[in-house]
Amino acid sequence: MSAAVPGSFTLVYLLLGSNLGDRAGHLRQARPQLAASAGSIVAESGLYETAAWGREDQPAFLNQALALRTALSAEALLAACQATEQRAGRERLERWGSRTLDVDILLFGAEIIANPTLTVPHPRLAERRFALLPLAEIAGALPHPQRGQTIAALLLACPDPLPVQAWAGE
Ligand code: AMP
Repeated sequence: MSAAVPGSFTLVYLLLGSNLGDRAGHLRQARPQLAASAGSIVAESGLYETAAWGREDQPAFLNQALALRTALSAEALLAACQATEQRAGRERLERWGSRTLDVDILLFGAEIIANPTLTVPHPRLAERRFALLPLAEIAGALPHPQRGQTIAALLLACPDPLPVQAWAGE
């Protein structure tokens, strides 16, 4: 459990994802919502597209990593991320019957958190190219708190076969 120390800030990394509807629009709308509810965005990666390889029934995903300076506890940050998902989801649930925005906490400073609602670093970060590649763009030199290797080194060693490509627009 992480406790917020009054007046202190944590540099956190989030991964936004969308695979339904106006994917880039959902990511674009999420950023000011997160900035208003969670803290200032200090870096953002470009958008990356990951084909729904092996899952032909689903459209491809767009992903983006954000660095955020927050005064929130990890649990309060998760609540802010989920509120942002729900704002995007409300519209989508009616039109598409499925969620169009995912907001995951990849890293919360160097903290290691494991409780029933939150696992940080994100448990699949080191195995997912679609998370490592955008994160490496803004935080390649950052060490993974559990693995010790940098994000750039984890990306180089990542066995994930799913192609992830810089996205230039529809
Ligand atoms: P998902 O279906 O990927 O959106 O998973 C959402 C659930 O994962 C939520 O109920 C969270 O409590 C849980 N969760 C655990 N760790 C994390 C994390 N690092 N970031 C976001 N959600 C998390």
